[in-house]
Amino acid sequence: MLLMFASPAFAQLKVVATLPFIGSLAQEIGRDRIDVVTLIKPGQDPHYAEAKPSMILAARKADILMYNGLDLEIGYLPRILESSNNPRIQPGNTGNFDCSRFVKVIERHGVVDRSMGDVHPMGNPHYVFSPKNIAAIASGISNALSGIDPANAEYYRHNLKGFRERLVQKQKKWRERSLKGKTFVAYHKYFEYLAAEYGFHIIAYIEPKPGISPSAGHIAELIKTVKRKKPTAIIATYSSGAQETEALGRKTGVKVLLLPNDVGASVTAQDWFSLMDTVINSL
Ligand SMILES: [Zn+2]
Repeated sequence: MLLMFASPAFAQLKVVATLPFIGSLAQEIGRDRIDVVTLIKPGQDPHYAEAKPSMILAARKADILMYNGLDLEIGYLPRILESSNNPRIQPGNTGNFDCSRFVKVIERHGVVDRSMGDVHPMGNPHYVFSPKNIAAIASGISNALSGIDPANAEYYRHNLKGFRERLVQKQKKWRERSLKGKTFVAYHKYFEYLAAEYGFHIIAYIEPKPGISPSAGHIAELIKTVKRKKPTAIIATYSSGAQETEALGRKTGVKVLLLPNDVGASVTAQDWFSLMDTVINSL
C-alpha cells in the first residue's frame, strides 16, 4: 500500500514550454497528466533570452516542446534543439509544437529581416493578448497532447471544453470594458492583437522599429505628437522600455501604464486569464 501511494499512478508527459503563457495554457489542458518546465522567466525580455545548460537538459527529456514561433525564440531555441539530441522535439515530429501555426498573424511585411533592425521579421509575434488566437492554440494543444498520449485524450478534450467555456464568459466581461476608440502610445508592439480585437488604437511608438531604441530626435517628435493627440495613456511592459516610457510620461504629463508582458510578470497575472484581466482592467 505504501509503495502504491509513493509512486505516481501514471507517467506524466514531459512538456517544455518556452514562454510562461504557453506553459500556463498547457497546464490548463494537461493538468496533472503533464509536467511543465518553462524556459523563460516571468519578467524576462523574451526577445533577448539566451540558451542555458538547464534549458538543454529540460529539452533533452521533453516529450513535447511548445514555443511561440515567428522567430521570437530565434536567439536560443535552435541551439537548444540541436544540443538536446532529442529526436521527439525536432521540427516535423509530433513533439515539436509551434503555437503560431494556429495564429492568424498580423503585420507580415514580406522582406524584412533582423539585420534591418526589426525583431519581428515574420510578423507580430505577440499574440499572447489575442483571445481568438489563444482559443485556437488551446485546441491545438489538446490535439497534440492526445496524439502523444491517446489514453488520456478524453481527459484533455474535457479540459479544453472547460477552458473554452471560461474564455467565452471572460470575453463577455472584457468586452464590457469599452476600450473602443481609446488611443495609446506604446513602447513596443505588444498590444496590436488586443487593439484589433477590442477596437482601440496605438497611434505612435517609442521604438522607431521593434527592437530599436529611440534616438533623441525620435523622442522630440514623439513629445510633439503626444501633446497634440493627447492619448489616454503611454503603455509599456515591465520587461522592456519602462524607463523611456516613464520619461515620456513626465515630459508630456500623460499617464503611464506599465503592464505584464506574460504570465507571472506581475503579482496579479498568475495564469493566462488573470494576465488578460490585468492588462484589460489597466487599459
Ligand atoms: Zn516583440
